[in-house]
Amino acid sequence: PVTLRDIPQQPRDEAFALTADFKADNHPNKVSLSAGVYRDGNSKPWVLSSVREAKRILHETTNLDHEYLPIQGLDSFLDVARDLILGKGAAATANVVSLQTISGTGANHVGAAFLVQKLQPKNVFISDPTWSNHHLVWTVGAPTVTQRKYPYYDFSNHTLDFYGIMSTLETEAEENDVVILHACSHNPTGADPSREQWQSLAALFKRKKLFAFFDSAYQGFATGDVEADGWAVRHFQQTLFGESSAEEDPSSAPPGMCIAQSFAKNFGLYGERVGAFHLILPKQTPAAGARSELLRLVRAEISNPPLFGARIVQTVLSDAKLRTMWENDLRVMSGRITKMRSLLRQAIEEDPNPGDWSRLESQIGMFSFTGLSEKQVLRLREVHHIYLMNNGRISLSGVNEGNVKYIASAFNEVLR
Ligand code: PLP
Repeated sequence: PVTLRDIPQQPRDEAFALTADFKADNHPNKVSLSAGVYRDGNSKPWVLSSVREAKRILHETTNLDHEYLPIQGLDSFLDVARDLILGKGAAATANVVSLQTISGTGANHVGAAFLVQKLQPKNVFISDPTWSNHHLVWTVGAPTVTQRKYPYYDFSNHTLDFYGIMSTLETEAEENDVVILHACSHNPTGADPSREQWQSLAALFKRKKLFAFFDSAYQGFATGDVEADGWAVRHFQQTLFGESSAEEDPSSAPPGMCIAQSFAKNFGLYGERVGAFHLILPKQTPAAGARSELLRLVRAEISNPPLFGARIVQTVLSDAKLRTMWENDLRVMSGRITKMRSLLRQAIEEDPNPGDWSRLESQIGMFSFTGLSEKQVLRLREVHHIYLMNNGRISLSGVNEGNVKYIASAFNEVLR
């Protein structure tokens, strides 16, 4: 008989293990550059002023109950979430099914679990490198789909490998295959396609009938502007399923596209687990069946999603004053990160040895891919008490005016 005695131990999750190791380290100069969470100029968590104000309003002026939400979640939250990513006009006219999820991870998971059953793609194409959980989510949620990597980054020039992306999808992807795309602020490289490159990608997806799976975890965090950061998703939606597609023969369109939307980073609501999943279908495709299947999945897994964080996001996004405050909060966070990018570059380049570190400024969002080797990363941890991911990814949110020189001199020491 099967026993539970011989289960092999899985490796620890790298990101969470590093956070725990960092906490346990007592060195006075320790620095965490590993976690994908925003920190203020004193390395402290930051509650957004718009979120503080929304909480005050919720507590003081409404009579909050703690009833169950419907299976799909808070409808008024889903409306503003959809408007935010698609734009109001497109959100109102698209053929879209939306569900509230357990943050971005839950949205990725629901998408994988739905697609493996209903679309049954042969392959899921995942950028190399990527957020490591993409692999795990598909391994656990959709084990019959073959995971394929598409090259994303030119490691020697520190730039996007656009030719690698296009040529791999062109030659290897088949109709109905799923391709995961980072909507903005690619994790871990910080390198995003330009608008022209997104246009070429959308045309390729249309021609080859590929299913675009957008992971949107950083809208507003890349540039500080939610419109600019949502541009790629909107362009895909318009190109593949916009108004002009209504007259087209449905069999000439891709089967659909989807968005896994997280509010962890752009609202600082990491632990509240606020997210949404949006499935966009061609205009003529009936959506009721897909909606019923998604609801069934949610009912089996979580029954219905949590209430509090969704109320906060809904309150902020549906009030003009709070929304302006939030947009300012986004500029505070993305502005600090941009400033740290240039300070760190300057401090590193003060040493004559390390060469060109302009990549710190050309990459955007929370992360940069330093190009440091695993050996150098381990030395940074062991000798200098600076924690970053083994692949050399740093989160710029861990840098501040007080530690930037320390970080730069440690980088320069391991680079020598
Ligand atoms: N997708 C990407 C690319 C991420 O970097 C993250 C968080 O680090 C997520 C999704 C989801 O995070 P959460 O589940 O906290 O919303």
